[in-house]
Amino acid sequence: ALYLRHTPELFRKVRDAIGFGPHLLHDAHHRLTPIEAARLGKALEPFSLFWLEDATPAESQDAFRLIRQHTTTPLAVGEVFNSIWDCKDLIGNQLIDFIRTTIVHAGGITHVRRIADFAAMHQVRTGFHGATDLSPVCMAAAVNFGLWAPNFGIQELMPHNALTDEVFPHNYRFADGHLVMDEVPGLGVDIDEALAARYPYERAYLPVARLRDGAMWNW
Ligand SMILES: [Mg+2]
Repeated sequence: ALYLRHTPELFRKVRDAIGFGPHLLHDAHHRLTPIEAARLGKALEPFSLFWLEDATPAESQDAFRLIRQHTTTPLAVGEVFNSIWDCKDLIGNQLIDFIRTTIVHAGGITHVRRIADFAAMHQVRTGFHGATDLSPVCMAAAVNFGLWAPNFGIQELMPHNALTDEVFPHNYRFADGHLVMDEVPGLGVDIDEALAARYPYERAYLPVARLRDGAMWNW
C-alpha cells in the first residue's frame, strides 16, 4: 500500500521537475498482485510512462488481462521468457505493448526474429532486456537485431564495467541517447580469451529483497 501511494507521487515530482520531454519507465519486478498492478497503472496514467515493466509474475498470464482492463499505461514483459510459446497469448491478445525477450534467453537471433515478426502483426514493439548479467556478446546481437527490427521499440542498456568491456571488445556504443554501431563484420564483438583467463569465475549474489516486516520476498 505504501508503494502504491509512493510511486505515483514520485512520478508527479519527477514530471514537475523535468516536464514531459524525457521518457520515463518503471519496473515493478514481478512483485505486484494483478489488482495492485491495475491500480498502479491507472494511478500512473497522468505521468505518461513509456512502459510499466514486469507488473506481475510473468508466468501468470491471465493477470495481464485484468491489468489491461483497468489501465492504458503501456505494459512490458518477457525478460524471463524462453520461447515464442511464452509470448503467444500475451501478444496474440494484445495484452502487452513491448516484448522483452532477450536474444540469449529465447533461442538466438533466428527464434527471436519469429517473436518480433509475430509481435509486429499485433502492433507490439520490442524492448529487449539488457542487464549486465547478459554479456556484451548478447548486447551486440541485440543492437544488430534492433537495427533490423521494423517494430523496434527500445533497447535496455546497463553498461558493463571497464574490465568486462576490455574482455569483450565491441563496436556498439551509446551516443546521444542511442545505441549505435559501425558497419563491421559479424556482430561487431569479440572475446579476448587470454585476458578472460586471467579472471576466474567469482560467485556473486543478487540482493535479498525483504518486505517492511522483514519477510523475504522474491527478487
Ligand atoms: Mg526488469
